[in-house]
Amino acid sequence: MSTINWMEEVLKRKDELVKDTQEFLRIKSVLDEENGTSEAPLGEGIDAALQYLLLKGSKDGFLAKNVDGLAGHVEMGEGEELVGILCHVDVVPEGDGWSSDPFGAEIREGKIFARGAIDDKGPTMAAYYAMKIVKDLGIPLNKRIRMIIGTDEESNWRCVDHYFKHEEMPTMGFAPDADFPIIYAEKGIADFDLVMKVNHNSVESSHEQTIILKSFQSGRRYNMVPDFAEARLNTTIHDDKLLAEFNNYITQTQLLGKGYVAGDTLVFELEGQSAHGMEPKKGKNAGLLLASFLKGIQLDKDAFSYITFLLDYFYDDSRGEKLGVRYSDEITGDLTINVGKMAYTNEAGGSIGINLRYPVTNDMEKTREKIEEVAGLSSFALRNFSDSKPHHVDKNHTLIKTLQKVYEEQTGEEATLISIGGGTYARSLKAGVAFGPLFPGRPDSAHQKDEYIIIEDLLKATAIYAQAISELGKI
Ligand SMILES: [Zn+2]
Repeated sequence: MSTINWMEEVLKRKDELVKDTQEFLRIKSVLDEENGTSEAPLGEGIDAALQYLLLKGSKDGFLAKNVDGLAGHVEMGEGEELVGILCHVDVVPEGDGWSSDPFGAEIREGKIFARGAIDDKGPTMAAYYAMKIVKDLGIPLNKRIRMIIGTDEESNWRCVDHYFKHEEMPTMGFAPDADFPIIYAEKGIADFDLVMKVNHNSVESSHEQTIILKSFQSGRRYNMVPDFAEARLNTTIHDDKLLAEFNNYITQTQLLGKGYVAGDTLVFELEGQSAHGMEPKKGKNAGLLLASFLKGIQLDKDAFSYITFLLDYFYDDSRGEKLGVRYSDEITGDLTINVGKMAYTNEAGGSIGINLRYPVTNDMEKTREKIEEVAGLSSFALRNFSDSKPHHVDKNHTLIKTLQKVYEEQTGEEATLISIGGGTYARSLKAGVAFGPLFPGRPDSAHQKDEYIIIEDLLKATAIYAQAISELGKI
């Protein structure tokens, strides 16, 4: 049991912490590769934010290291073992609609408003002050404590890839880049395309009854449920009938959409509802819903194959049941499948972009083989496969036990363990969990306009991190 009042120590430094957080948030650290240099490969802004922390670190007596402008670290303590705190200084572009300057870090109603306030520069400053407090208090540590500073979390994770190629992997660590209490398990994430082998059905098109699907398009990202779909068909004498049927369909399904004739083309547009790909049930997949309408039309042979495949294996099934890959475990729950991208043209054929998230005990090799086999039967081939392995730390690991104890002492709340669809920054650590900064019940403003951090939460997180560092460093 610690005798230090961590919150009191944080409050002594409150003004300084808030001022530094504001200063840090005022650096526009958005990816700007086009203007990158060998020293600052990701652009000036990101480099300035990285330098800011490193300079501050060396002024405060930490060991500071810049790793090729792609990452860096600030370290204290001594010993064989290394505890990592993984943060990132890059932010997503500010976007529109802000009530104040997105890089102004204005304070209103107890909140600091800025791009990066909650993701991840606010929490980074909290973790930095946590280290500083432990250092100021002269707490003896048996391990080295290292803040690892990433610069490319929001895009391609080139920072951690590069960093861990050249630098030491901590024996354990946490990333203040998601939610409290503790995210201890994350599903594996596989992205891939199912590509239709093209037959070219020019012969078919001479049939009077057949309608040619010129193009079908929905979604642009693997990990999002598409909120819009468009199909373009050649016009026929049946246009009025088809338009009436489409209007019926959108009324029945209570969706928004419109059908119209533009020159020699009959166009159907349908709106769905976007959601994150980790739970497709939370959205309405516009592409699959439009495909479901199109199946009632006598389409050309290639289009028929494409639409039929989509519906047979993915419609109303986000669990891989129809593909025969359904799987679930106690740690991370169901395997999920999101159809994020659908693209078809009469000339080039079709492809389907999938985001598949699988439980920690799932055998992805087998799942992949099964999908290849099923797709093959319909003349679809699996392409562009990429896989990020599941991530999981044992419930009884010292890291988990220690962070649970700290969280409970600091908040008085139970430190439940959370498992998610993935992928937090913690998965780039061998034994790492996501630990804050968002407290249960707080709305998440990351990546949105008017992003903010509640100052009270910033202070609370700092106290939690300070105790966590001191305890992890003492074990
Ligand atoms: Zn983040």
